[in-house]
Amino acid sequence: KLTLNASDRKAVREEGDNEEEGHFSHFDKLPLSQRTQLGLERGNYKKLTPIQADALPLALTGHDVLGAAKTGSGKTLSFIVPLLERLHLERWDAESGIGAIVLSPTRELALQIFKVLQLVGYKHQFSAALLTGGRDVEEEKKRLHLISILVGTPGRILHHLRDVSTLSTDNLQMLVLDEADRLLDMGFRESVTAILEFLPTSRQTLLFSATQTTDVQMLAQMSLNDPRYVATHSLS
Ligand code: ADP
Ligand code: MG
Repeated sequence: KLTLNASDRKAVREEGDNEEEGHFSHFDKLPLSQRTQLGLERGNYKKLTPIQADALPLALTGHDVLGAAKTGSGKTLSFIVPLLERLHLERWDAESGIGAIVLSPTRELALQIFKVLQLVGYKHQFSAALLTGGRDVEEEKKRLHLISILVGTPGRILHHLRDVSTLSTDNLQMLVLDEADRLLDMGFRESVTAILEFLPTSRQTLLFSATQTTDVQMLAQMSLNDPRYVATHSLS
């Protein structure tokens, strides 16, 4: 019987796609919609980073994921791709309400996420709104009609969830907590907790954090359901 030693196995992990083991090294081997594949091509993303290789198969099969990986390791695509796929599979449209919410600790990080969403999601029909503290809240409110994806900071998103009676999260498919450690450092614990109360428990939740603190563990316990743990190092 053929068995692989450790270095062979490493070579397989680095060079090959072993779909039976749920390991994919290239995006074009992942079972994704044509629309998402075109978006990844447009971004010139070819090989998965380690966190993407570990997190994507789990997130794409519907698991809650707790991902620990340093800045620069590629966490954004680890949640943008499953988010797009989930809404695509659910045939989400403008009438379906809010399908996904991505929480980010700062305006700048939220904008970065929004840009990746626009880039990789350009072939999808979903509309997304960037909700951060930098804009006029009434202007934001006007744009929320028929929106499917919210990306923003917890304070602003909570404001709209409370304020806009037309925002329906009853059918929400996915919640992403990005940079969970920083969300907590920046004092968003109460806002995040309040947001969770608006959301159905049937959702999928992905939580990413550079560090694993006891606060992050507590937030994970509050928000995740039977999570899979993924921890990898940065590319550099
Ligand atoms: P993190 O959120 O973990 O800090 P990002 O998702 O912001 O990391 O990604 C860091 C950088 O790496 C970005 O410039 C992004 O475009 C790039 N990147 C992410 N995934 C890949 C990939 N699979 N191939 C090439 N570049 C990638
Ligand atoms: Mg990030």
